[in-house]
Amino acid sequence: MNPDQFDGRPIVFRDATVLTMDDAGVIEGDVLVTGETIAEVGRDLAVPGGTAEIDASGGILMPGMVDTHRHMWQTALRGLGADWTLTQYFVFYYLNWGKIFRPEDIHAGDTLSAIEAVDAGVTTTVDWSHGLRTVEHGEAAADALRAAPGRFVLAYGNLLGAPWEWTNSPEFRGFVERFGAPDDMLGLQLAFDVTGDPKFPERGAFEAARDLGLRVTTHAGVWGATNDDGIRLMWEGGFMTPGTTYVHAATLSQDSYQRIAASGGSVSVSTESEQSAGQGYPPSWQLRRHGIPVSLSMDTSVWWSADLFSAMRATLSADRSREHLEAHARGDTVVHNSLRAEEVVRWATIGGARALGLDSVIGSVTPGKKADLVLIKNDDAPALYPLLHPYGTVVYQASRGDVHTVLVNGRVVKHEHRLVGADLAGARAAVGRTVEYARSTMGEQAWQDSLTPELPAAERVPNPYTYTDFDGGDERHRAQRST
Ligand SMILES: [Zn+2]
Repeated sequence: MNPDQFDGRPIVFRDATVLTMDDAGVIEGDVLVTGETIAEVGRDLAVPGGTAEIDASGGILMPGMVDTHRHMWQTALRGLGADWTLTQYFVFYYLNWGKIFRPEDIHAGDTLSAIEAVDAGVTTTVDWSHGLRTVEHGEAAADALRAAPGRFVLAYGNLLGAPWEWTNSPEFRGFVERFGAPDDMLGLQLAFDVTGDPKFPERGAFEAARDLGLRVTTHAGVWGATNDDGIRLMWEGGFMTPGTTYVHAATLSQDSYQRIAASGGSVSVSTESEQSAGQGYPPSWQLRRHGIPVSLSMDTSVWWSADLFSAMRATLSADRSREHLEAHARGDTVVHNSLRAEEVVRWATIGGARALGLDSVIGSVTPGKKADLVLIKNDDAPALYPLLHPYGTVVYQASRGDVHTVLVNGRVVKHEHRLVGADLAGARAAVGRTVEYARSTMGEQAWQDSLTPELPAAERVPNPYTYTDFDGGDERHRAQRST
């Protein structure tokens, strides 16, 4: 179907396996969308005349996914830091190069990241935008998100400024005034971290958030950067509100988890990030024990993707891995898994919506909610058949290439595996200009050093065995023998 034909018409998905993520559970049937809203979910729905029909048979229809923490501006240097440690990331952005990013670079990164999100079925993204060193940068981010196909929350941050200063500056207050009332298509939060300095200078930033009626999102429990002291200071200041998002929360004591649980806040688990950058072990296993609400996130495309399929898979695996390790340390064997695929799909959808206070608006396929929907269907993919365990298929079998159709607020933004109405060529060209600018500003040596950070000396375990009968002319074995 020509995508233009959707304009203004009701849409019905026929014969899907619907993961409603509400009390209705899994339904085999249809979903009718009228205007911005999910009108009806059920079998053989009667639809208004002129309704556009999408054959969803053999596919899974689920709520749009929600990423509660992504530094979208860093998509402009996608993949540059694939081999970085967290320390190298901090040196790159905080010390050396964060300051060179211009408003147009923020705009370029945000725009490509936004298109990438909806392409992967992520219909809501929190832009943890800590590259906003002036309000002109902030305006560029807001402009990019307003023009992009998707639902966003601009979490305003400034990694080069002191949070208690910039949040209270007349320039920032002017930005907030021009931004206008946040709505469910573009929200506004404050994004800053609490260092644990006993003088608690961040108090002023929390007070600003309170004055402005904005939620706070903060990197907490990050090994070597933020810790229990930050949580305690927030608690003592009365700033641990139910709307607060704690990102990572991977290196914290039981006491801090209990404070988070008691205050009603939620944690954004960024498993690929925590596994690779070392903020701490991905904490879902701890959060479950403390009854803390969970959402998922992908952090930054300077290392990783913007793909919540990968977040769900990594999170389920890391959680189970931890259970096995804990059991083995006690000499036990895990005979029943505590975490199911269904639960991580919940974290990726309604869990994210709850974390943002949007669970009455999005996050499930429920009549009356806004139509943010993802159809996973790929008749050419061997991996999607048979469909016996739909949650398992979403987590362990499907990938972003299987995202067939995406609706945001009732609007088709992807159909039959192709983006609709997004200027991908323009977005790529703008990022190309940012790459050229960053590379020439940094200089070739710094650029190359960023791509290939130093390798520590490899540890080799002496091997008493020799494979004299097992050489076979293999270079590797010869090398091993001669060492
Ligand atoms: Zn982050």
